[in-house]
Amino acid sequence: MAIRRLFVGGNWKCNNTLAQTKDLVNSVLNKLHFDPSKVDVVVAPVFLHVPWVAEHIQKPVQVSVQNTSLTGTGAYTGEISVAHVKDLGLNWAILGHSERRQYYGETNEVVANKVKYAVENGLDVIACVGEHLADREANQTNQVVEGQLEAIRGKLNEAQWEKIVIAYEPVWAIGTGKVATPAQAQEVHEFIRSYLTQKVSQNVSQKTRILYGGSVTEKNAGELIHQKDIDGFLVGGASLKPAFADIVAACN
Ligand code: PEP
Repeated sequence: MAIRRLFVGGNWKCNNTLAQTKDLVNSVLNKLHFDPSKVDVVVAPVFLHVPWVAEHIQKPVQVSVQNTSLTGTGAYTGEISVAHVKDLGLNWAILGHSERRQYYGETNEVVANKVKYAVENGLDVIACVGEHLADREANQTNQVVEGQLEAIRGKLNEAQWEKIVIAYEPVWAIGTGKVATPAQAQEVHEFIRSYLTQKVSQNVSQKTRILYGGSVTEKNAGELIHQKDIDGFLVGGASLKPAFADIVAACN
């Protein structure tokens, strides 16, 4: 088991009616038992559900948004700014999720600028990286992940890494039921940690939490969490179900 405080994130994506979200909070999240000194539990609802969730969820569970705007408040139709997130008393944003990269054209540069803007304006960020299947098959996993990290590193000073959690999410494992084996995940997590040692600092490398995401379930969480460099999970599909409680329990 890793030496850092563990982290379990639930990315609810664009799912659930408000009634379903209320039911998930009342029947799963508000019944969780965990020690917040050992594990952070953070859920990211649909934007429109965030205020209700933030008000009604039990306090040790933190609430995140799934995206933030590259710009501040003002004439930016359709955007939600970091200032609006902070105004609700929230501290977390997921940025650079592969679905944002794939469907909404977010390049490494856009993601890195969003991360910089969010951190400079007081948010903690779950920054997502990960390769496509074709990258893995071409033995390019490390290069792709390094490129994503390099873009972010170029925008942050060393102290700002305190506000970053990295989520390694191989795109081929997201929502597909194809989970990376513990060895495959550990290999990339170790690569990310050594990247941080070489390119940022030993201190940042030792302190930064690196999450695994990609078809995590209550069945595979126990084995994955025992890998040395896996500090928790970013969970999609299973975070919408009672199974999320078992994943948190595996980290507690
Ligand atoms: C995710 O979208 O962050 C994710 C990991 O999804 P899933 O757990 O459904 O693969």
